[in-house]
Amino acid sequence: PVLGPSSKILVAGARGMVGSALVRRLKAAGYDRLLAPSRAELDLLDQRAVFDYLARERPDYVFIAAAKVGGILANNTYRADFIYQNLVIEANLVHGAHLAGVQRLMFLGSSCIYPRDCPQPIKEEYLLSGPLEQTNEPYAIAKIAGIKLCESYNLQYGRQYVSVMPTNLYGPNDNYDLNHSHVLPALIRKSHEAKQRGDRRLVVWGSGQPRREFLYVDDLADACVFLMERGYDGPLVNVGTGQDVTIRELAETVMRVVGFDGVIEFDASKPDGTPRKLLDVSRLHALGWHARTPLEEGIRLSWQDFCARHEGEV
Ligand code: GDP
Repeated sequence: PVLGPSSKILVAGARGMVGSALVRRLKAAGYDRLLAPSRAELDLLDQRAVFDYLARERPDYVFIAAAKVGGILANNTYRADFIYQNLVIEANLVHGAHLAGVQRLMFLGSSCIYPRDCPQPIKEEYLLSGPLEQTNEPYAIAKIAGIKLCESYNLQYGRQYVSVMPTNLYGPNDNYDLNHSHVLPALIRKSHEAKQRGDRRLVVWGSGQPRREFLYVDDLADACVFLMERGYDGPLVNVGTGQDVTIRELAETVMRVVGFDGVIEFDASKPDGTPRKLLDVSRLHALGWHARTPLEEGIRLSWQDFCARHEGEV
């Protein structure tokens, strides 16, 4: 059946950064039969609860935006939690959706599924062509399993479960915990707080040399709904901007946006991770979608969200 605003859509992980962006985007387009259960309403680690929920609600479409995520340090430290929780969440949702007769689903992965040293920009077909980056291997293996879950249900049962691989994301509702977050929210917070304290130093982990690509989360949500609405059911699709920056350049941009006139210090005791991770987005461009939000604009919007949500704490 063709999907439209009257379709019933489940967003799993609706309170997270990606899920909440999907809910915003869907609501703006007039979708009003959205299922967006919180963790208290539906524990995605509980197989019985997930199967029962899907059997009862029978959505027309499921977005899997639920995952245990974090930055380089969190991934490297809580290795068991990252592989276990992600495997269970995706297995419960994919198999539960299949049992409930859900024909269409979108699984959100991550660019860290690709081999550490693969050619740049990274094409979808490089999946499983070489060894992974060690710092987030457990998370990456779980996400690769999610892709293969979807692919296997499509091949064996004729489902249309699509996998989408976003690059590094940022935006409203991001995690600003310095030990667990990704680099962009960390730099926003550190710059903002240093400015407020009248400090002059900004500590940046690693060498500042790695290159990363950053996509504003509302652009990702737009790409996902674009693919859903056009009924895309082809192979894996990368979602990114097609451009990357060094971590040093990123830090300089954040400082400019926040208005923090400081000096960068590199902390070599922290890992650099993958040297470069730029997605090839020609598959998505060929379908007619392009990212819209320039990095500096997205950082400004994220900083405003950070200030609004953390006012009084800083
Ligand atoms: P990754 O893309 O999986 O490596 O995850 P991150 O977003 O956590 O880190 C990206 C790069 O930014 C790595 O080279 C980090 O060492 C570097 N980085 C610099 N400062 C920070 C920081 O304060 N927090 C984090 N998470 N990364 C930082």
